[in-house]
Amino acid sequence: MGIFIDIHQFPCLNDNYGYLVHDAGSGETAAIDTPDAERYLAEAKLRGWTITQIWNTHWHPDHAGGNLRLKEETGCRIIGPAGEAAKIPGIDQAVKGGDAVMLGEAKAAVIDVPGHTLGHIALHFADQSAAFVGDSVFALGCGRVFEGTMEMMWQSLKRLKALPPKTQLYCAHEYTASNARFAVTIEPENKALKDYVAWIEKRRSDNLPTVPALLERELATNPFLRADLPEMQLAMGHAGNAAATFGEIRGRKDRF
Ligand code: ZN
Ligand code: FE
Repeated sequence: MGIFIDIHQFPCLNDNYGYLVHDAGSGETAAIDTPDAERYLAEAKLRGWTITQIWNTHWHPDHAGGNLRLKEETGCRIIGPAGEAAKIPGIDQAVKGGDAVMLGEAKAAVIDVPGHTLGHIALHFADQSAAFVGDSVFALGCGRVFEGTMEMMWQSLKRLKALPPKTQLYCAHEYTASNARFAVTIEPENKALKDYVAWIEKRRSDNLPTVPALLERELATNPFLRADLPEMQLAMGHAGNAAATFGEIRGRKDRF
């Protein structure tokens, strides 16, 4: 329902996904992060779109490194996280959780998801059941906790868990196959996970993306989103403590 937006997804750099979001009504096009400016310009040109905005999820160079080049070429407006605005090249507008950003008539809600970086945000188009989550959550994984704490990252994942289950998560990287190899070490008996892993292997052998990821499926399979389950907490040795359970899983993945 509501306003139709066109989401164009393409691989960038080694394992990033680039996204261009287009609203035909207004002609506006948003670049979600800027891993590779030249690639974004070429993909927009192919579709006859002009990039009018950049929406950054966080400051890492594989997300904001193309900002200045795209701005120079298109004069686009750059919107990024208030919590790390000083690190976002060319930023025009800083936003934080609870704010809304507009692409023509289409509205995206800003969600604070700190942990990977301290200002990391996600952008949720509720009417379109689409969330651009950067490096906060991945298919069967989550971002490394570089700047925040395990507790902070768990609270961020809880915000994403609370989105409608039919939400498609547009993650910034294709890490799913390696995430799957780890996930089965945490929940070897999870039937939904086994089915998902088989699907992932098929998709990757056909050279197809596994992203976007349906939140509903992630809730049933992604170990990082399952730290609030009593059986998971028990298995990780932290009964009754979701944040510590999350931290244990994250630590195991870091050493995997
Ligand atoms: Zn990152
Ligand atoms: Fe990244």
